Amino acid sequence: MQQLLRIAIYARVSSEQQAGESTIASQVEALEARVSTDELALLPDCRFIDDGYSGATLLRPALEQLRDLAATGALDRVYIHSPDRLARRYAYQVLLIDELHRAGVEIIFLNRPIGTSAEDDLLLQVQGMVAEYERAKIMERSRRGKRHAARSGSVNVLSGAPYGYRYITKPDGGGIARYEVVEEEAQIVRTIFEWVGRDRLSIGEVCRRLRRQGCPTRSGKAAWDRTTVWAMLKNPAYRGEAAFGKTRTAPRPTRLRPVRGGSEHPRRACGLFDVPATEWICVPVPAIVGNPLFETVQDQLAENRQRSRQSARGARYLLQGLVVCRMCGYAYYGKPVSLRAAKGKRRDYAYYRCCGSDAYRFGGQRLCLNAQIRTDRLDEAVWREVEQLLRDPARIATEYERRLDDAQRRGAGGPDLAAAETQLAKLRRGMGRLIDSYTEGMIDRTEFEPRIASFRRRVQDW
Ligand SMILES: [Zn+2]
Repeated sequence: MQQLLRIAIYARVSSEQQAGESTIASQVEALEARVSTDELALLPDCRFIDDGYSGATLLRPALEQLRDLAATGALDRVYIHSPDRLARRYAYQVLLIDELHRAGVEIIFLNRPIGTSAEDDLLLQVQGMVAEYERAKIMERSRRGKRHAARSGSVNVLSGAPYGYRYITKPDGGGIARYEVVEEEAQIVRTIFEWVGRDRLSIGEVCRRLRRQGCPTRSGKAAWDRTTVWAMLKNPAYRGEAAFGKTRTAPRPTRLRPVRGGSEHPRRACGLFDVPATEWICVPVPAIVGNPLFETVQDQLAENRQRSRQSARGARYLLQGLVVCRMCGYAYYGKPVSLRAAKGKRRDYAYYRCCGSDAYRFGGQRLCLNAQIRTDRLDEAVWREVEQLLRDPARIATEYERRLDDAQRRGAGGPDLAAAETQLAKLRRGMGRLIDSYTEGMIDRTEFEPRIASFRRRVQDW
């Protein structure tokens, strides 16, 4: 892969400096030495040299040529002596570094690997700030664009349709995106609303009936999840007013542990959070159920919540969510002992139970046969273990070093195929999003083209 890299060097010396310690020749020599250390070959027309130009201006012939070349996408890496050869002012350095990075060019500074001096740290921070600003600008523009579209009743912004509807895209719908009712699914939606609104069934019972009637979910699963049915009953789209802005991204709170099968470090720092219904923007769509039935169902749901005896949720047990099942990998949750199970006696303990052992969560078939365990006993056992650790700090130090060693050995083990594939998928998703923003008119052509070119090149390089 290294031979395929298209590289260049850039050198600059101002007229006053020529007399001093660093001449243009010594700079070029250092750059060429580094290129050969990296086992790369430099083509003759890839030496960009501004001899006798001040770093205070960006109008330098070789720099212009370098930027032109980078903009065409014909460059992968440029070697430069130090950031101040690029420009004297930080703002210009940031501008150039940002421009080159956006064109997919990697910059290698010889004498000052980024992050070794206070100056470089500052540069890095400023770069970060600018990148942050750019991202914020695009996101804000996109957010405001979508909000505006939602206000004017465009279904575009909803980008997907709930069960019961089919989403007709802008090109397929002759310039206007819309929801189209899928009659077989709509019939099931009406039935679910009637079961709850008229027959006052619980959501659990709705799920069981759907399963008994052999009615699959949209993704073809036989078992309906309670949360899915609950979300359907709350979705105002079915009465003809699809809601835009039901969720919002915000920084994630600290996690107890990684999700099952997930990575230790989440890829995104943000999660989705619910927005109060008063802030939603309504987009008119064809209704599937009448308004009176929809309202009745909302009243029924409110009543169910009041009646539910297990209304107290959240962290009531010390280890819930922290203990993970060794057999199936799901977390344990705390479950109180019902009066009936305790034969009328009140218990002052509860049970930790593996999520995988609840049949109802997996369509009537439990995944895990691990037994539940009394909260008081497990809490006690874990606390004893913690006490022992606290008495013997050397044990923690040894374990810490062992893990550090492990991590270093893994790091030295060459490129990880899975990681490469993840990276590739990430790039493709990024491209998809970028194309979406462009086709939806969120960003203009001048912004779109260099970014998409950079994406394409990065995908090719993988
Ligand atoms: Zn389990």
